[in-house]
Amino acid sequence: MRPILELFPEELPGEGFRKAQIAHWLYAKGALEFSEMTDLPKALREALGREWRLSEFALVEAYPSRDGSVKYLFTLLDGQRTEAVYMPYENRKTVCLSSMVGCPAGCAFCATGAMGFGRNLTAAEILSQLLAIAHHQGLSPREIRNVVLMGMGEPLLNLGNVLKAVRIMLHKKALAMSPRRITLSTVGIPKGIYRLAEEDLGVRLALSLHAPDDETRKRIIPTAHRYPIAEILEAVRHYYAKTKRRVTLEYTLLKGMNDDPWQARLLAKLLKGLSAHVNLIPFNPWEGAPVEGTPRAGILAFAEELRRLGVPTSIRWSRGQDVGAACGQLALKVPKPLLTPLPEGAGR
Ligand code: SF4
Repeated sequence: MRPILELFPEELPGEGFRKAQIAHWLYAKGALEFSEMTDLPKALREALGREWRLSEFALVEAYPSRDGSVKYLFTLLDGQRTEAVYMPYENRKTVCLSSMVGCPAGCAFCATGAMGFGRNLTAAEILSQLLAIAHHQGLSPREIRNVVLMGMGEPLLNLGNVLKAVRIMLHKKALAMSPRRITLSTVGIPKGIYRLAEEDLGVRLALSLHAPDDETRKRIIPTAHRYPIAEILEAVRHYYAKTKRRVTLEYTLLKGMNDDPWQARLLAKLLKGLSAHVNLIPFNPWEGAPVEGTPRAGILAFAEELRRLGVPTSIRWSRGQDVGAACGQLALKVPKPLLTPLPEGAGR
């Protein structure tokens, strides 16, 4: 059986308006089975069931956090596992999706990086995360209006599959999302950033910089030696010039590594002329982490220094820490008592 989520609405099986009907069942109603698609002829439903599959998961487990976010653990059909996070805010529902099993970037503060690289996810596996979360939350998939590709993996090293999934998210007959509400987060793969600029999908780009100088950055992101900061920022400048989309710079503050005031000043200097917003991320601890987070006072001081120098800066206080769902914590370790398996059939 082939994954039906790999298809654009116009490629779906069936003649004429049947394609739109199937797309509606998939993306507006979040159907779990072809048998639910009751306005399709029985013969077509049966044929769909024989040739296509609706889900990419053998098992879906949900781990609710005290703050309302939920970490999801997906067992893929080949037995590998990946994760996603649902974050309900007052006026928006956001999902953080993975693009890989594990990650090859190996960032020092990230539990996923410590796992190493498993494999790339397909477009269907990326979309399936969103559909499974919507189902578990009792929502139409179209009610999820914000997607960040900040879960496991480096999206720009799996760009073919990521772009396909994003195009289906944007498609008017699929999830009909606004490109401004989709963010791709990268450690800085210049080739991928140039390609993204050429594709001009209007999505947002977040660059995980984490240090203003190459020496420090290499200690935090071991693969950073391949791409000097100057080369990455040149690609980011090109992305901004081409798309007019302001880029967000992510900066995880680590004690004694990248949190000194001189580093804030160097960062501000580096960002001159680049319309960027800095998002400071407090380190979210995990067992065996080789680094320590900057204390709260240091985080506030670093933010203040950047703002004083005219850099728009915010601090992202994390959600879902108690279930290992916060930034940098995704690594398939979850506290047992909070386990809430999905209802029958939800794993599809
Ligand atoms: S922070 Fe992102 S890029 Fe770095 S290791 Fe973790 S998942 Fe990979």
